[in-house]
Amino acid sequence: MLKGKTAVVTGGSRGLGAAIAYRLASMGADLAVVCRSGPEAAEQVCAGCREKYGVSAKAYQCDVADFEAVKKLAALIKADFGTVHILVNNAGITRDGLVLTMKEEDFDRVMEVNLKGAFNMIRHMSGMFLRNREGCIINISSVTGLMGNAGQCNYAAAKAGLIGLTKSVAREFASRGIRCNAVAPGFIATDMTKGQEENPLVGSIPLGRMGEASDVADAVAYLATAGYVTGEVLRVDGGIGM
Ligand code: NDP
Repeated sequence: MLKGKTAVVTGGSRGLGAAIAYRLASMGADLAVVCRSGPEAAEQVCAGCREKYGVSAKAYQCDVADFEAVKKLAALIKADFGTVHILVNNAGITRDGLVLTMKEEDFDRVMEVNLKGAFNMIRHMSGMFLRNREGCIINISSVTGLMGNAGQCNYAAAKAGLIGLTKSVAREFASRGIRCNAVAPGFIATDMTKGQEENPLVGSIPLGRMGEASDVADAVAYLATAGYVTGEVLRVDGGIGM
């Protein structure tokens, strides 16, 4: 379904990003997998995609919060793959704390990675989409961006910001055949939510369980191929955000 397309997945070395990379590869997409720390984990994901699905896949190390580094990354990916058709902005971090005691650097870093990181990627990749007159951007937001969450004012603000970014980009690019959507996951079992199994919020999930990374990959696969959907925010949260 995505044969001949190239997808970039940020934060693709583990968790949701790795599941998304595998899913897009299973649909035939070639993959650029971006991570921040040592590229070994991202390289492992790429090797798995190549072996299992016969696609091309390459790992890149880049801090998405760094505007100039992302510019170089876009040029590298263009040189390696020729162009890009799908961008999944999945890289994200948490630095939780109560608003009264949160350190300035923790607020800033979460905004820089989770919100500005997506802007940087869109800013530097969109030239390729415009030239192709086709493109699909999927931003991984969070149900926290819709509902707020005590102890996560920085994270919730960044994830809510991603929704504004998504809708603005969707409006700016719609006439050029470029779509932009967001996925808002709830509690999904990954490194990020390790130890959260006992969080009282988990008990209030209508579907009665935390989600799996594959639940989010399902939503990304849908949005990657849903040609008439743009500016949408798709909750994948077991109903907690309804
Ligand atoms: P993980 O912590 O498991 O993985 C985060 C990924 O992001 C890693 O690949 C990491 O790379 C990468 N990353 C972090 N910072 C940067 C950076 N500055 N530049 C490039 N890559 C970076 O997170 P999840 O898989 O759980 O989450 C993925 C996304 O989904 C995040 O945006 C998160 O906010 C969102 N989300 C997750 C939910 C959940 O319940 N898990 C719920 C709602 C949203 P490296 O390993 O190299 O550090």
